[in-house]
Amino acid sequence: MLKVEIDSGSGFCFGVTTAIRKAEEELGEKGALCCLGDIVHNNAEVERLSTLGLRTIGHKELRTLPGGTRVLLRAHGEPPATYTLAAERGLEIIDATCPVVIQLQRRIRRVYEEDPRPQIIIYGKRGHAEVLGLVGQTEGEAIVVETLEEAQAAVIDKNRPLCLFSQTTKSLEGYRAVGEHFKSQMASPDLLRVFDTVCRQVSGRLSSIEDFASRHDVILFVCGKKSSNGHALYEACLHKNSRSHMVDSPGAIRKEWFANGESVGICGATSTPLWLMEACRDKVETIAKSL
Ligand code: SF4
Repeated sequence: MLKVEIDSGSGFCFGVTTAIRKAEEELGEKGALCCLGDIVHNNAEVERLSTLGLRTIGHKELRTLPGGTRVLLRAHGEPPATYTLAAERGLEIIDATCPVVIQLQRRIRRVYEEDPRPQIIIYGKRGHAEVLGLVGQTEGEAIVVETLEEAQAAVIDKNRPLCLFSQTTKSLEGYRAVGEHFKSQMASPDLLRVFDTVCRQVSGRLSSIEDFASRHDVILFVCGKKSSNGHALYEACLHKNSRSHMVDSPGAIRKEWFANGESVGICGATSTPLWLMEACRDKVETIAKSL
């Protein structure tokens, strides 16, 4: 008989949970609502909320919405230009930016306003919504580096102060390596300030999911295809357990994966809703009865 366990550490971080709750409250009280970008990188959850009246729009469409339209800003945050545009067009902003991201945006803004202005580097994914919001605090001046190699190739002035920040979802290990690199480049170590901005809601998950993957015969990693955090966590599962499978819905689960398996672990990314992991558990339990 198969035993199935859902990883209690998997699923939405508190920033995403809060944004979704806010969307549900607004939809319940006042009806239809627009969301600027996918509220979470998970199609199943986006579809569930769209049936409640949440419509995902892009930045181009923001320019064409009639005044008074209610627009939710998701947990990733937005650059100041978005707030300016919304005010100009008379849109009503419902701000669900995660408080951790707001604090990071403010820290970057404060550093940018220092006189003399330091060089600012952000370790993050170029073009990611959160990173666009961070770079926006510096009028587009901050340099973004995605990897250690890019950090090594970045052109900096070793005699001028440099401030280093990280996107909240980057790995602590990668950030430390990038910090060490810049430390070795500066004319004096005092010229470098490294801000501790990796969110612990995500950074602790890598080691806990590895433990979880080692404890089971078969792992089902439930995740939308667009989640970058999901791909990193799935690789960690696969590294510890070669019988790990990534699925985006119960329909993708195959009976043959469970031959000779006794325990099945179900886990997911920070963008995976609990209800989807539970639906996958139900599917495994149905399969178990037919084995
Ligand atoms: S990962 Fe952290 S900073 Fe990002 S939305 Fe979630 S709680 Fe907020």
